[in-house]
Amino acid sequence: MGEAPDRDEMLRLDKADPLREFRDRFAIGPDPLTYFDGNSLGRPPKATLERLRTVLEEEWADRLIRAWTDGWMNLPTEVGDRLGATVIGAAPGQTVLADSTSVNLFKVLHAAATLRPDRSEIVIDDANFPTDRYLVSAVAEQRGLTVRWITPPDFGVTAESLEPVLSPDTAMVVVCHADYRTAALADVAGITGLVHDAGALAVWDLCHSAGVAPVELDAARADFAVGCTYKYLNAGPGAPAFLYVAARHLASVRQPIEGWFGAEDVFAMGPTYEPATSMRRMLSGTPNVLGLVAVDEGVRLVAEAGLDRIRAKGMALTSLVTDLVDAWLDPLGARIASPREPEARGSHVTVRHPEARAITDRLIASGVIPDFRNPDLIRLGLSPLTTSYAEAWDGLHTLRGIIAA
Ligand SMILES: *Cc1c(COP(=O)(O)O)cnc(C)c1O
Repeated sequence: MGEAPDRDEMLRLDKADPLREFRDRFAIGPDPLTYFDGNSLGRPPKATLERLRTVLEEEWADRLIRAWTDGWMNLPTEVGDRLGATVIGAAPGQTVLADSTSVNLFKVLHAAATLRPDRSEIVIDDANFPTDRYLVSAVAEQRGLTVRWITPPDFGVTAESLEPVLSPDTAMVVVCHADYRTAALADVAGITGLVHDAGALAVWDLCHSAGVAPVELDAARADFAVGCTYKYLNAGPGAPAFLYVAARHLASVRQPIEGWFGAEDVFAMGPTYEPATSMRRMLSGTPNVLGLVAVDEGVRLVAEAGLDRIRAKGMALTSLVTDLVDAWLDPLGARIASPREPEARGSHVTVRHPEARAITDRLIASGVIPDFRNPDLIRLGLSPLTTSYAEAWDGLHTLRGIIAA
């Protein structure tokens, strides 16, 4: 536990930051906030505001329904392919944008169950994100399957914690890449390999890592994945989520919301549903165009900045925050609840304190916006494209003052 760096050091780090120009590419309000919640709702890119204006004023107002054939029809797969290549290591034709993460997870769980008709169990950990736990329970009930709950070690699901429950009954395993509470990263390739050894399918939730921690779904031979775009991809509240299906499953996969946008010929309007042969079969209804162009701009910004540079700055920011917590807050009874090694965590740091709820309220009143998570956790999200070193330092400085008081 070294000495805390001073604020001048932060100004030097910001000046030397290869991503420093990117903060100016976001619309940042007049309020001098310290924003530690880019892992819940990222800031709006200026390019997105511009693009939305163009889509509304030119495409919608001028082109009206013709805009669908001008290009809107292709947005779910076109932006999906761009996100696939930039963010999740997916070759074209395996990623679409649609609906919410929750709805996509529902589709994927049913799709995976269809591919393993003779198996009876879904494995998931009881520390998983609520929507994942609820949907796994619901889909299990709908399909007459059993949920095999595991309690993971402190820092999320590992191959060792999964191994004892995998069996010839396991149909699929649902795991988050980054744990939403602690930011612990799971080993995507290692766990997927183990799940495959048991003959089961690996379903990944990438909500808390997409755009901030690289993942290589194709190389890991993942089967399915879903994830958000309004967190580190900065696509805005309720923007469409992504859904990945490995190409090898595409021909045989069926999903439970077979609407007209998943049909091979959307405008044939035939008597029965013929699923698209492409990834479009995972779509259901009319795409959210405004949300899709916002995802497009968010992904383009990540591509321009480079996920490797984003990851490097994310690790530097989380390391700075853990150092400051150790130096300033440990003596005041606060503890790091995230992994200690920067490589082992995503881009937030979680601090545990018995008064976390009251401290969070005081922080927000002081213009520092973190997240509170039951019962005693404060989540500090560091968003490498918008969070400066000085901003992170200032936020921790305020936190120290509040706990000390
Ligand atoms: C944020 C988050 C979600 C959110 O799902 P929505 O359907 O967009 O509300 C799901 N899973 C995880 C792990 C998350 O972090």
